[in-house]
Amino acid sequence: MELPGTPLDWIEPIVGAERTETVRDTLRGVCELLDGRTVWHISDNPVRGGVAELLRANLPCLAGEGISTRWAIIGGPPEFRAFTKSLYYRLCGVAPGAKAADLERGRRMYERICAETAARLVPAMGRRSIVVLHDHQTAGLIPHLREAGCTVLWRVHVGTALREDLAAPGWEFLYRYISSAHCHITSYPGVLPAGPPAVDRRVVQPSIDPLSPKNIPLRPDADPSRLLAGAGLIEEAGGAPRGRHALTDLLVRHPARVVRAGGPAPAGAPLVTQVSRWDRVKDVPGVIRGFAEYVDPAFGAHLMLVGPDTRGDRQAEQVFAECRQAWEDLGPRGRRVHLVQVPTDNRSEHALTVNAVQRHSAVVIQKSLAEGFGLTVSEAAWKGRPVVAAPVGGIREQVEHGTTGLLLSDPRDLRGLGEAVNRLLSDRDYARELGRNGHQRVLRRFLTDSSVLGFARVLADAAQRYQ
Ligand code: UDP
Repeated sequence: MELPGTPLDWIEPIVGAERTETVRDTLRGVCELLDGRTVWHISDNPVRGGVAELLRANLPCLAGEGISTRWAIIGGPPEFRAFTKSLYYRLCGVAPGAKAADLERGRRMYERICAETAARLVPAMGRRSIVVLHDHQTAGLIPHLREAGCTVLWRVHVGTALREDLAAPGWEFLYRYISSAHCHITSYPGVLPAGPPAVDRRVVQPSIDPLSPKNIPLRPDADPSRLLAGAGLIEEAGGAPRGRHALTDLLVRHPARVVRAGGPAPAGAPLVTQVSRWDRVKDVPGVIRGFAEYVDPAFGAHLMLVGPDTRGDRQAEQVFAECRQAWEDLGPRGRRVHLVQVPTDNRSEHALTVNAVQRHSAVVIQKSLAEGFGLTVSEAAWKGRPVVAAPVGGIREQVEHGTTGLLLSDPRDLRGLGEAVNRLLSDRDYARELGRNGHQRVLRRFLTDSSVLGFARVLADAAQRYQ
């Protein structure tokens, strides 16, 4: 798809004229170096997860400053999606017991889909294009695009696994493709394991878009708690009937699907939340158990695990069932836990609901077992929320322990999770301070202009070195 351009002026009031001008200047230079070449991005889907979020925010800025930019989706049948999901779990080291032979069995099908996709795209691209392939789903296209004469950058968004030995078969599966890319781009240093391939490496940290529906300030126009009441997640303050507020009805019309023991959370109850796809890497069952076992019930806090609607996504449905089981296993101790699926039919309504959840949270958790970056951490910090997070991958770049949030000593430390949440629920001043510092850190390092600048520098390099 061709992208509508959005010149960078919109970000200037937030990050200042100097920063904005640096990006503009750099992009002007890149345009000259590219000399009319188009930059293509290929990823696995246009909607779900951090990669889609990032591309939706960054690509219009590049296009808006004159870089011919296209975005295509690899798609693929259900067996391709199932295979790439299992490959992803291996790269993240959350597929214990998996054997390299299982991957080999899927190789032919993986290569066939990649070859078909390349055959579809190459005629539109032409030899001079620069192509950025995102993640393992698209890695199999690299040799085809090299053969077609393109400059190929492989952008990997996954993070290092806790146990590299569990991830090794996944990386070995990918080596034969990724070793022919011109350059590898990661979200933080040290993602790619040592050993082959000897390819140039660059780091570009992702970012969040401060004016997207996901992050836009809601007050004073819309009170997050009203939006959440509109979605059926918390009780309407004052007991007013749902739908009473015209604004709420306008913005959030569709109730979320919720698994819980009673009704919505009381309007005044502190909310502890994790927003994530239904994916094993996010360890939602661990969050549920840590909350039930170690968060002091005296705070009256409710836990909300918030993710997208699983309908039509078999792998997500499976993980959701596992989360539901973890909740059912708690019995009465799970009565303040809510599993929430936010409808995805209307993209901005979905984003607005997530925005309201994050803003209304007393504490935001991100207890991933591996993470390339973890945009949800910056999203929460930008909203001034204190974050409790696992010390993995790109999360460590975002959270300065004790200053902008609290990092667990180990991602599987449930007691530590509960204690960190208790601390923030009991010391609201400290929680506010972490939130304020977190916001400043995101402003300095993780807004759209920063990642556009980082990517522009890689493009400048690519245009000069890889022809
Ligand atoms: N997200 C969302 N709705 C959900 C769950 C997640 O819009 O129900 C968004 C979340 O706000 C973030 C992105 O999906 O922008 C997830 O990115 P992250 O880097 O945290 O993790 P990934 O999904 O890429 O592993």
